[in-house]
Amino acid sequence: MSLLTVQGLGKSFGGVKAVDGISFEVAPGELLALIGPNGAGKSTTFNMVNGQIKPNTGSITLGGRELTDLKPREIWRLGVGRTFQIAETFSSLTVVENVQMALISADGRLFSLWRKAAEHKRAEALALLNQVGMAAQADRPCSVLAYGDVKRVELAIAMANDPKLLLMDEPTAGMAPKERNELMALTKRLVVERGMAVLFTEHSMDVVFAYADRMIVLARGRLIAEGQPAEIRDHPKVQEVYFGS
Ligand code: ADP
Ligand code: MG
Repeated sequence: MSLLTVQGLGKSFGGVKAVDGISFEVAPGELLALIGPNGAGKSTTFNMVNGQIKPNTGSITLGGRELTDLKPREIWRLGVGRTFQIAETFSSLTVVENVQMALISADGRLFSLWRKAAEHKRAEALALLNQVGMAAQADRPCSVLAYGDVKRVELAIAMANDPKLLLMDEPTAGMAPKERNELMALTKRLVVERGMAVLFTEHSMDVVFAYADRMIVLARGRLIAEGQPAEIRDHPKVQEVYFGS
């Protein structure tokens, strides 16, 4: 059974059909890549799944439950997570404090109570940091971390809500190849260990082919191919879109 089912999803901005009636499924525990040239509709698709943008057509269901009428916060509560960049105001807090705040937020507590609640969340936060290899840096401020380490903390923050599906839009943007591979290897390990599904976009084909379980390809808002990385690599429509041949 699929975890997420997208059917006939469409969104126009003015006259532009950003997403033009696409359908796909995400299975539990799979690492699914959404690829396509710039402007293909990848981010718009992500933003419809997490509820930031309301579609003009189609449906999105999680475990059979319709999401399109729900608010982003409600969709997040049902188990669709996404990675956020750590806001500047929070980068002066330590690594573990940032994860503690995320855990408190996942509990639905009031922000004003966070200091007290935080005491109880430290062990849980450290366990998440351990999963992303950041426990040793727990008490450093986020502002002093290397870029790749910030990305690890952002992953730990996203997992505070224990998502069934995690959305990652260009998680490795701005990273050197070595860091990209490390972040994707970690993501893959989390998928296996937690049984969480991940839907991600990525520009580097080397990274996608190395880590994705399955791929879907968008071009001009349409889904033009889907399959295993090996099938996609040789797909004539994909060759045409990427290499113009
Ligand atoms: P991708 O993430 O694949 O690069 P996007 O989903 O960001 O593509 O964009 C798809 C298309 O929709 C592009 O033509 C883009 O210019 C357009 N678009 C995206 N968001 C908006 C918006 N808020 N207003 C107007 N046009 C938009
Ligand atoms: Mg995008």
